[in-house]
Amino acid sequence: MERRCDICQENEAIYTDYSRGVSLCTNCLKSSIRRRAWAVLENELQEGDKIVVAHSGGKDSSLALYITKEFIDTHPDMKLNLVSLTIDEGTFYRKASIELAKKLAEKLGIRYIVFTMEDIHGISIEDIKVNIPKNWRRSVCTYCGVLRRQAINAVARELGASVVITGHNLDDIVQTSLMNIARGDVNALVKTLRHERRIEEGLIPRIRPLKYVYEREIAALVIALGIPAHLGKCPFTQGMRIGIRRVIDELEDEASGSKIRALRSFYLITRSIRPRVEIKRCKVCGEPTTADLCKACQFKLELSDFFGKDLLKPPSFEKASSEKEWIWSNR
Ligand code: SF4
Ligand code: ZN
Ligand code: ZN
Repeated sequence: MERRCDICQENEAIYTDYSRGVSLCTNCLKSSIRRRAWAVLENELQEGDKIVVAHSGGKDSSLALYITKEFIDTHPDMKLNLVSLTIDEGTFYRKASIELAKKLAEKLGIRYIVFTMEDIHGISIEDIKVNIPKNWRRSVCTYCGVLRRQAINAVARELGASVVITGHNLDDIVQTSLMNIARGDVNALVKTLRHERRIEEGLIPRIRPLKYVYEREIAALVIALGIPAHLGKCPFTQGMRIGIRRVIDELEDEASGSKIRALRSFYLITRSIRPRVEIKRCKVCGEPTTADLCKACQFKLELSDFFGKDLLKPPSFEKASSEKEWIWSNR
C-alpha cells in the first residue's frame, strides 16, 4: 500500500528517515536536504566567489552541483560564479560518469571542464591498478585519493577559483574520521573535520554542502528527481574504508542516528585541538604541504621507481590558463 508523506500528508513517501521515524515525499526530502546544504553554503560562501565544483558525475557531487546552482540562482546579490570540473582518473568506470557529468552541467547551463590524471600527473589510476602487485605497500585508492585531491587543488588554483565545492556526505566524513582515529593520525582527523575558511597560500578552501546529509538520502533524491548521475561504485575500491564502512553501516542499522551523533561527537572532541602544522611548499611541484615533498610527489617518486619513468615532472596547466577567461566570462 502506498505510504503518505508524514510532513505534507499529501504526496507519496519515497524515503524513510528511521532516526526521526518519518517518511518523506520527494518535495519534503528535497526541502530537508536543501535546508542543511544551504545553511553550510550561507555560512561559508562569500560574495563574488568563483566556485569550482569537483564533479565526478557520481550521485554526491552531482547533487552538490545541483543544489549549489539553485543557491546561486536564488542569491543573485552574492554575485557567485560556478564551473564544473571533472578529474578523469582514466578508469573504465569513470567514462560513463563523465558523460553524465557533462549532461548535468549542460542541463543546468554550467560551464564544464575535464582534466585527465595523465595530463596532470603523467599516469592514470588504471595504469596503477593494472600494474602494481596486490601486496604493494599502498592500495590503489590511497594513490587515487591523494593524486586526485592535489589535481583538483592545482587546477582550481590555475583557473583562479576562490573556493572548491565537493560532494562529501555525512557517511564519507564519519568513515574518514574513524580511519584517521584507527591510524592514530590526530592532525588528519582535525583537518577532516575543521574546514575553516582560512586562506593558506596555494590551498583553495573547500566547502562540503552535503556534510550533514546521509548517503542514502542523496541516492533517494537523485533517483526521485532524475538528476543525471552515475549510481554505481568504483570497482577498484580497496583498503581500510571497506571495513570501516561496514562497521558504521551496521551500527546505524542497530541504532538509527549513530552516524550523525558520531559526527557531532568528533566535532566536540576536536574543537579544542590546535594541530601544529606548518605549511610549506613542496620542493618538486610547489604545492602546499607540511613536509619537504607533498604526498603526491612522494607517491610519484615511488611510482617512478616502479614504472621506470620520471613522473616527477611539474604538471602542465596550459589548458587551465588558456580556458580561464572563457570559464568565468559572460555569466
Ligand atoms: Fe579512486 Fe578508489 Fe575511489 Fe576508485 S574507489 S575512484 S580507485 S579512490
Ligand atoms: Zn511531503
Ligand atoms: Zn609536490
